[in-house]
Amino acid sequence: MNDTAKITYLFNSGFILETDNWAMIFDYYLDEHNLVLPAIENKREVYFFASHAHFDHYNPQIAKFSGKATRYFLSYDIKKALPPENKTVILDEYTTYEDNGILVKSFSSTDEGICFYIEKDGWRIFHAGDFNWWHWKGDTVENIAFARNGFKKQLKLMENLQTDIAFFPVDSRLEEFWDIGAREFAAHTKVKNLITMHNVSHKIWQVPDDFPHKDEISVWSPRFAGDTHIIKR
Ligand SMILES: [Zn+2]
Repeated sequence: MNDTAKITYLFNSGFILETDNWAMIFDYYLDEHNLVLPAIENKREVYFFASHAHFDHYNPQIAKFSGKATRYFLSYDIKKALPPENKTVILDEYTTYEDNGILVKSFSSTDEGICFYIEKDGWRIFHAGDFNWWHWKGDTVENIAFARNGFKKQLKLMENLQTDIAFFPVDSRLEEFWDIGAREFAAHTKVKNLITMHNVSHKIWQVPDDFPHKDEISVWSPRFAGDTHIIKR
C-alpha cells in the first residue's frame, strides 16, 4: 500500500521513509542498528538524499548500498567520496530533477547545502537539511540578525508550500529558541505531518499550545535511533 508511509529515525537528521514499494533515506550519518539494509532490500525503488557535506549529514558509506539504490540526490557542496556516477544526481540550489519515478526540487539553505522538496506517488515531502532559524543566544547582535534575515528570506520562497511530511530541525542547543524556525515554517507553509530532527539530546520537544495551526498538524519527535512512526493518508 502506497497510502501508508513508515518513518524510521536513524540519528540527527537521518531518516528512512518507506512505503511497500519504495524507500527514501535522508541524511544518512549513523545507522547503529543496521536498519537501512532490511528497509531497502525488497523495494522497487530506493532513493538516497544528502542535504550537505557536513559529516553528520553525509556519510560516504551510502555508496555501499549502490546495488539497491535507484538514485542518489546530493547537494552541490558534496565533492568527496561520491557514490557511483551513473546513479548520482548533484543538485544546485533551486534545481528541479524529474523522471518518471520522482520529482525533486532543491531550495537554498541557511547553512551549507540545500533543502529537498520531493513528489512521489502523490506524497509531498520536505527535508530541511540544516535550513533553520539558527538563533544562538550568546551570539553577536549582527549574527543574530543575519540568522533571522537569512531564514526569513529563504522562507519567503517556500510560502504556501504544501507538504504531507516535513522534516524540520528543532534543536535543543538553541534552548528556548529551539522551535522558532519550525514555528515560522508551520505558519508560512501547509504541513500535514511535521517530523522534528537535528536534536541529539534527550530533551524531547512537546508541541506548545500556541504553535501555528496546531490542530491541523500532526507532530512526531523521535526519541531514539530506531524509533518509528506510521503515517496514513
Ligand atoms: Zn546539521
